[in-house]
This record gives sequence, C-alpha cells and structure tokens, in this order.
Amino acid sequence: MKYSPTKNYINGQFVDASSDKTIDVISPVDGTLLSRVPMSTSKDLDDAVAAAKKAFPLWSRTPIKERVQVFFKYKYLLEQHLKELAELCSEENGKTYGESVAEIEKCIELTEFATSLPQLITGEVLEVSRGVECRTEHAPLGVVASIVPFNFPSMVPNWTIPNAIALGNCMILKPSEKVPLSCGKIAQLLKEAGLPDGVFNIVNGDVAIVEAICDHPRIEAVSFVGSTKVAKIVYQRATSNYKRCLALGGAKNHLMVLPDAIPGMTAQNVVASMSGCAGQRCMAASAMVGVGNVDHIIEKICDEAKKIVPGENLGAVINKESQQRIEKYITEAEQQGAKILVDGRNAHVKGKEKGTYVGPTVIDFVTPEMSVATEEIFGPVISIMRTNTIDEALVIENKNPYGNAASVFTQNGGAARYIIDRASAGMIGVNVGVPVPREPFSFGGWNESKFGVGDITGKSSIEFWTKLKKSTTKWNPDAGVNWMS
Ligand code: NAD
Repeated sequence: MKYSPTKNYINGQFVDASSDKTIDVISPVDGTLLSRVPMSTSKDLDDAVAAAKKAFPLWSRTPIKERVQVFFKYKYLLEQHLKELAELCSEENGKTYGESVAEIEKCIELTEFATSLPQLITGEVLEVSRGVECRTEHAPLGVVASIVPFNFPSMVPNWTIPNAIALGNCMILKPSEKVPLSCGKIAQLLKEAGLPDGVFNIVNGDVAIVEAICDHPRIEAVSFVGSTKVAKIVYQRATSNYKRCLALGGAKNHLMVLPDAIPGMTAQNVVASMSGCAGQRCMAASAMVGVGNVDHIIEKICDEAKKIVPGENLGAVINKESQQRIEKYITEAEQQGAKILVDGRNAHVKGKEKGTYVGPTVIDFVTPEMSVATEEIFGPVISIMRTNTIDEALVIENKNPYGNAASVFTQNGGAARYIIDRASAGMIGVNVGVPVPREPFSFGGWNESKFGVGDITGKSSIEFWTKLKKSTTKWNPDAGVNWMS
C-alpha cells in the first residue's frame, strides 16, 4: 500500500474511525493500492459534529475580514503545494497531470472568490421611520455538511469549503470513498493556514454516513454533488429532516452544431469537451446534434478524436465497473444500428495493464431513443444525432431530463441567441464546449441536474450558507413617535 490508511479529521487531528471496516483506494492509472478508507459510523459523525458545534461560537463571532485571512493563506498554500496536490489528484482519480493542475488552479480561483466575500456580504440599512433603523445582516447557519463525488477530488470540495467557512459556518466534509486522499491534504493546508480546530472536519465513509448526515439533528444544511439518483435521495432525506439542502446531480449535455460553425475550432472544442477528464465531468459534452449537413465537421471531430491517446493525453476512468459500463453503452448503440466512427473499446496502456482506460469514442447516426442518447455515460463518448432544423434539435435537448449545460456552435448570433433562450439548461455555451462560469458567476444546472434553490458557488452561495437577520432599532425617544415607532 503506497500511503498509510486514510483517517478521519476531527477537531484538528487525524483520527481512526470507530469501525475496522475499510474499502481499498485503488489508482485507476495502474491498479496500485493507494490506501484504505474507513467506513465510519454515526459515532464518528457525532464526534465531528460535537467538535464543529464547539468551534462555532468563536468562529462565527470572528469578524469576516479576519476569517478570510485564513483563506488568503490557504490560497498561498494551494499555490505552493500545487504540484503535490495535482499528482495526488491524478493518482487517485486517474485524470492526466495537466487536468489535475487545472483542477488545483480552479481551487485557487474558488478560494480567491472566498477572500472577496467581505466586499459582497454587506447588509442593508435604512431609517424606516423617524429615529428607527432597519438593518439586515447575513448570519452563518451553524454546523453544515458537504458531500462530494469522485470526479473532482479537490475542486468540488473547494466549491463549498472556502465559502461556507469564510461565511462563518463549521463544516463536516464527506469525501468520495473512491478518492479520499486529496481531502486529507486539504485539511492539512487549512490547519497550516490557521483555521481553528473543529471548524473543518472530515468523516469518511459511504452510504451510511451520508444517511447519518441527512438525519443528524445538529447539522443545519447539506450540500451534495453527485449522481441524480443519489441527489434525489439526499435532497428528500435532508429536507424531510427540515434541513436546507442543495443537491447537484448528473448531466447529459447537448452540443448543437450548425453548418456555419468554424470546423477546426468546433471539432477541437467538441473533442476536448467529451474526452477531457475521460468524459467524467458533469459539464462534458455527451450528445451532439448536427443541424443540417455537418459532415465536414464530423470528419474533423473524428480526426481530432484520433489524436487523443489513452495513457498519454487521456486519463483513466475511475474503475473497472465504470470501464465496463461505458463499453456496454457503445456496444448497445452499435447493436441498435448506430455507427461507431472512432472506437475506444478495449483500450490498453503499455505498462499499465491494470489501469482502467476507455479510448475516445465517436458514435454517429444515434437516434433520440437510444440509451447513448438519453443516459449519462460518464466516459469519453460522444453520441451524434442529426436534425434538419434548430427547433428539432431543441426538442431533443429539451426532452432530456437533465439540464446542466448546453452549447451551440455557429457564427450566427441570431441563431445562438435563439438557442440560448430555448435550451433547458442552467449553463449555456456559444462556441464553448465546457461552459463552466468562472468566479464570481455561479455554478448550477436546472431540471434533474440540481435540486434546491440557488447555485453552489459564486454570489449565490451566500444565500445558501447564511440566513438573514433583520434588526429594527430605536435609540432616541425624542426623535418623534408615530405608529411605526
Ligand atoms: P455518486 O452519486 O455515486 O456519489 C456521490 C456521493 O454520494 C459520494 O460521496 C458517495 O459516497 C455517496 N453515495 C453514493 N451512493 C449513495 C447512496 N445510495 N446513498 C447515499 N449516499 C451515496 O456520484 P459519483 O459517482 O461519485 O460522481 C459522479 C456523478 O456526479 C455523475 O453523475 C456526475 O454528473 C455527478 N456530478 C455532478 C456535478 C454537478 O455539478 N452537477 C459535479 C460533479 C459530479
């Protein structure tokens, strides 16, 4: 085993879980056993919540301008440890080193946003009647939880950690049991940055801990990022326990390609979107709708896809189960009459025979009812459908139950605007394959890609991680009295 067994992080200390049950953490790159992650119990969660609850009064009363000083230092530490964090991310998740560097750079940007929160969180004040003032303030919620998926071991935790904590909350993080190592490093850096013990805690585990979080009477809010199936379970369970919940789910992002799109740029964007992070991004292009004759662009897409080589500029998918699931989708599409233009099945990387790879795959002549057209594949696969009109393309896009992202490739501004107005997705790209909004713009989808109000990052996160306090004050009794005062 390359690293020591993973521990929980409670009250500023790495501690053993109360159960001996563990799951192996295997590197998808080459099958190396990296660590073992404990399946914690509700007793471990109770300990973490107690530590967070104890830390809350002092932390929440620390002025926000002081609280964000921790995140200025944390940002500096992320920069200093970028290489180490990126290597760890690639090892446990399987993405390429370049993709991991980009992921840590995004963590830095997210933290930079958190340091600006004092500028954004000012309340309102008004003399509402003679001598009487109304004032609003954003108050932290208390102990909050963040449950995260495997595909961004550092970035998704950093969607919530800096903002929730800078806003005065104390947090319990539940990492993905598939990639728990980056979160341990994040805890170390937060401590080094001066975060008081108990403000940030990690409880490792799987389903049982997620359920215990949703049920815990002293956890005020739960943010979740993962598949739609689990997002629904978490949203329902947390809200039925009267908690605030924001649960981000899966995706099936459609790219609409018009014949006037710039072929080279479009092909590069489509392929980068569908194959980046081995297609394991909730913003990945998964379906493409060619409107009219786009054969010349599809040809270029195939040329670009052939330049993507597993183990070189394409990382691994998370595990064997995932590899088999993706290959099954491709085979099913083939059996149903679709044409596999570029086939990523049976990918092997020399010297990494135990790694789990799928090559880039381009499937043409997909029809809207095929499973590759409707379901989230979460692999480097693009399913191409064809229509005659933009409206027909929009019917296909609108019908899919998800709604994270959609993109259009065209040089026609009017057509692009028409699609922006009608696509049923929270994040839209024009000639952009992965339309992730950069800070301070917030991240969040629609439909079955998100349950709850607001977005998870940016200014929107202020509403989720705080509650408004409204105070009405009067100091001078001689200021004049009327029915309002
Ligand atoms: P997942 O839903 O399997 O797991 C997410 C978290 O939930 C993990 O911490 C896991 O331990 C826990 N979990 C798993 N099954 C559970 C159950 N039955 N009950 C309670 N908890 C459970 O997701 P994943 O495979 O880790 O991540 C991939 C998914 O996440 C994809 O669907 C992807 O689209 C989605 N995702 C969405 C976004 C977004 O912003 N919408 C971002 C990243 C990933």
